[in-house]
Amino acid sequence: MHELSMAQGIINAVLETAETNNATEVNEVTIEIGRLAMINPEQLEFILGVLIENTIIEDAEIKIENIPVEIECDDCEFHGNAVIDDKDHYAPMVKCPECGSYKIEILNGKDIIVKNIVIEKPDD
Ligand SMILES: [Zn+2]
Repeated sequence: MHELSMAQGIINAVLETAETNNATEVNEVTIEIGRLAMINPEQLEFILGVLIENTIIEDAEIKIENIPVEIECDDCEFHGNAVIDDKDHYAPMVKCPECGSYKIEILNGKDIIVKNIVIEKPDD
């Protein structure tokens, strides 16, 4: 299951950052998901909820933001956000909003990024 390994990677990155900063607790984690990351956001959120149990992330608010797909069109040279037909999360179709072409280059929107972590430090 793709979402499981992604979730594990996210949790490891957050825990590592928290440890490096001597955090006692993680209050908030913001994750950006590209629309083409081949991830089902609800499923990812569910798995994250399970994985953070009994860790210092347990009580954190997990925010998931979907980021748009940026493309460049081979046919009309449009540059910007694509139109996505993602009724199927695992096989989204991306096309140019200007001319409807599928001959496009994808510049952004394939990644999952931990964008922000809010931590709590011991108050001494
Ligand atoms: Zn176009």
